[in-house]
Amino acid sequence: MVPEERVLFDNGNHKNILLEDFGHGEMVQANVHFIVDNGKGMILDPGGHKVFKHLFGEVGSIIGVKNLEYIFLSHQDPDIVAAINGWLMTTNAAALAPHLWLRFIPHFGVDMFVIDRIKPVEDEGTIVKLGNSELYILPAHFMHSPGNLQVYDPVSKILYSGDLGASLGQDYLYVENFEEHTKYLERFHQRYIPTNKVLKSWLKMVRELDIETIAPQHGAIMKGKDIVNKFFDWLEDLECGIDIMEDVYKLPTKYFEG
Ligand code: FE
Repeated sequence: MVPEERVLFDNGNHKNILLEDFGHGEMVQANVHFIVDNGKGMILDPGGHKVFKHLFGEVGSIIGVKNLEYIFLSHQDPDIVAAINGWLMTTNAAALAPHLWLRFIPHFGVDMFVIDRIKPVEDEGTIVKLGNSELYILPAHFMHSPGNLQVYDPVSKILYSGDLGASLGQDYLYVENFEEHTKYLERFHQRYIPTNKVLKSWLKMVRELDIETIAPQHGAIMKGKDIVNKFFDWLEDLECGIDIMEDVYKLPTKYFEG
């Protein structure tokens, strides 16, 4: 049984589940999301080897491994892709990955006879059928990866925002007070998002969507239109990356101390 707080949406046929966080120790906290429609599943950003066997068990108990149709890879980072070979070897699922990173992902070690099941998604995104539902794969480039994708699910009205909206250090699963929450968002976004112009361009696209919940790959989930809009307004004005780091390009003067 999935604990109630990890069920983001459930109408009987369509479910959105936050799988248990099996990552510990030095691994950055990561959310692995799971979308199920009429018994067919898509797992999002399933991470590395240490969590693979646990997640594989979870998927098996929720829908049966043979019903996993898609493995969504939002970008090329190890906390997203590292265990992709295991997933491809043990399921029949297709992996969806940004075209930009397709030739880099095999460096994680992908066997020849499963490599064709990693399918490229072009820069403009696409629409994927899962069960009787349709999922929008959105362009989210430069947030943070130059080839970054996100998933919008119109049934649950959840935007799976990947690293955007990531928060580190809070001890809650759902954001209650957005103003209080910004301290956990700020450093990550200022350092990982290259410039505010990216945020503004992306906001123009997502403001057209009906979004109830933003579910990032790290940290707390933003539920309710009020919090979603506050987050969008906060991003609109956020100076980040090169906006505030132009001064960093200076020759170093300090010796490495280990
Ligand atoms: Fe990343």
